[in-house]
Amino acid sequence: MRLPILLLSLAAMSSTAAHAQTPPAGERPIALVIHGGAGFVPRDSLSEADRKAAHADLNRALDAGYDVLKSGGSALDAVSATIVVLEDSPIFNAGKGAVFNARGSHELDASIMEGHTRRAGAVAGVTTVKNPIKLARAVMEHSPHVMMAGGGAEAFADTRPEIKRVPNSYFDTPKRREQLEKAQREEAAKGKREANAAGDAPKYFGTVGAVALDRQGHIAAATSTGGMTNKRYGRVGDSPVIGAGTWADDRCGVSGTGWGEFYIRYNVAHDICARVAYRGDSLQAAADEVVNKLVPAAGGDGGAIALDREGHIAMPFNSGSMFRGWIKPDGSRGTAIHEEE
Ligand code: ASP
Repeated sequence: MRLPILLLSLAAMSSTAAHAQTPPAGERPIALVIHGGAGFVPRDSLSEADRKAAHADLNRALDAGYDVLKSGGSALDAVSATIVVLEDSPIFNAGKGAVFNARGSHELDASIMEGHTRRAGAVAGVTTVKNPIKLARAVMEHSPHVMMAGGGAEAFADTRPEIKRVPNSYFDTPKRREQLEKAQREEAAKGKREANAAGDAPKYFGTVGAVALDRQGHIAAATSTGGMTNKRYGRVGDSPVIGAGTWADDRCGVSGTGWGEFYIRYNVAHDICARVAYRGDSLQAAADEVVNKLVPAAGGDGGAIALDREGHIAMPFNSGSMFRGWIKPDGSRGTAIHEEE
């Protein structure tokens, strides 16, 4: 066979093979997984009303993202819509209901990443942005940067009509104030030296996150948080750090929740996807190994949600509980807080 004919027939064969492997967009799997934070929430500390409210808000968040995916929208739009619902809910530690820092105010962090383009945006330490995830997305789409912090990020927010600013007190809730007071009483009782030396394990996190797979086979991930109760003024955790708290590539996406210092040092979100990409680990094995072995062995705790391009979902946590919800490619869905739900 002459070379041009050979090339033509090879091209035809490979396009047939590719066609056979890739179902039409309408038949490709879509999936969504979300979290409302890992932490230790004893069953008896949650009233029936609190439990119901948490499940209801997780379901509202799932609906918001799934509506986008069902109608052929992008994974990026799906995770954005999901996170806004969770930020607006006072139950979770993101947006309204964010935890207090040691000075009695709120500093919020968020990030978003689109896998197939590797575009990413993040904000750290913002204090007056109602929905930090919208600002993270604006950084990605309307600035040449990936991460912006503090006053500069808020000045940028003012250039974007879709970003609403609010007084810092908008984020206050009585429950978070009580958690701050309790943390500060415990710190004072122990004495600062001892508390710092021990590194005091925090008992409740509450960050929110979402990972989605759309009909085009694209993955996006997003995370938003108020950080950790009684954190020092200026402390930034893993949630806005791409690779640590949020990661998406063209085969895998992750959003983490946990003790951020460990998630940064162990590059948790990226490590999970790297194990899938480089070692061919299953998503579940990769997520389990990082969340249930590496992080606790180092002294940290927390959880993560992960999703791959086939629509497999993993939701490991080592912290006693993790608010979470999922919709699988077969349409089955659920929400849960503790282990055996
Ligand atoms: N990872 C967050 C942080 O360290 C806290 C959380 O997950 O709730 O800021």
